[in-house]
Amino acid sequence: MSSVPDSNSTRTLSSDAASPLQAADSANSETHEDATQQTSWQRQLAEAIRSPHDLLAALNIPADAYGALTPKTGFPTLVPISFLKRMEPGNPHDPLLRQVLQTSQEDGVISGFTADPVDDANARIAPGLLQKYAGRALLIATGACAVHCRYCFRREYPYQQEPRTLDDWQPAIQEIADTPSLTEVILSGGDPLMLNDQRLATLCEQLDAIPHVQRLRLHTRLPIVLPARVTSRLLQLLTSLRSQPVVVVHANHGHEIADDCEVALRQLVRSGIPVLNQAVLLRNINDTVEDLELLCRRLSNVGVMPYYLHQLDRVHGAAHFEADRQTGISLIQQLAARLPGYAVPRFVKEIPGKPGKTPLT
Ligand SMILES: *Cc1c(COP(=O)(O)O)cnc(C)c1O
Ligand code: SF4
Repeated sequence: MSSVPDSNSTRTLSSDAASPLQAADSANSETHEDATQQTSWQRQLAEAIRSPHDLLAALNIPADAYGALTPKTGFPTLVPISFLKRMEPGNPHDPLLRQVLQTSQEDGVISGFTADPVDDANARIAPGLLQKYAGRALLIATGACAVHCRYCFRREYPYQQEPRTLDDWQPAIQEIADTPSLTEVILSGGDPLMLNDQRLATLCEQLDAIPHVQRLRLHTRLPIVLPARVTSRLLQLLTSLRSQPVVVVHANHGHEIADDCEVALRQLVRSGIPVLNQAVLLRNINDTVEDLELLCRRLSNVGVMPYYLHQLDRVHGAAHFEADRQTGISLIQQLAARLPGYAVPRFVKEIPGKPGKTPLT
């Protein structure tokens, strides 16, 4: 784990053309041009765990605690060591482990669970650009992530159809430039912070040069799962833009907000960037009031505002994560009796065709 894997090892992992890792390869390939300049977060990514067996072994959990661990899915295991370190060794029910452990439960075909539950396909206004709501559009900056969350609603997204190079981006950037009502651009994916600094800076600068773009929002899980990505260079990039940066991170359980993650979140907040969190309601992971209270307290203690709690999007392979809507509504009511108003997230569901996320009350 201490050696720096060569570029070969990353390529082998990216051989499945249908997998989001193909995009990871494209994001990483630039860094391979100059391997000696690999930064700490890129090295950590290369050292991430890539099989469910290795994950359980690292935690001293017998593989048979989970039954079959060899799912057919093309969405492979990916867990950075920094995230692994916040799991409890020996605990097969650890709430962080359950978010990322690939099991054969994912293989079941369950009616109502589909490849594109939020109808992204119908929202594509240019290559890599989705618009569903007034005033803001979402750019699929890359298909790569630093962690593979088993419940991810974009786990079957056709990333291979989306732009890979800065040239490929031009139609999306042109579309934004031609649409004055678009005052906010959301960099998403995948995870936009998987782009290296140079590529991220170029993309941000091109968007920043469009006069009507007033806010640049990043939807990212890297400050949570790979906190080393929050470097002074990144903070400098985000705070030197003309447009207002907003960072929306994604943590589901209070145990995620600890150690190096806590430090990274404080750095983002103290650099003056508004930081919000979105979580997904996940059965047996954060579906008690104690779990959600811990999450919201730890977030607000470092200045991160709980934004949304999402009802699960019904993507293939995620049925075992679904908690019922009534549970979510009741949890939010209980949270409101325990926390200041600003620390209680809105419980929402994405319903295709609606003008925004739909509040569940
Ligand atoms: C969720 C989403 C947004 C962001 O919605 P907010 O309510 O502004 O956080 C924007 N665009 C798309 C396509 C989305 O799915
Ligand atoms: S980080 Fe976000 S986009 Fe990536 S797998 Fe997790 S939920 Fe999906």
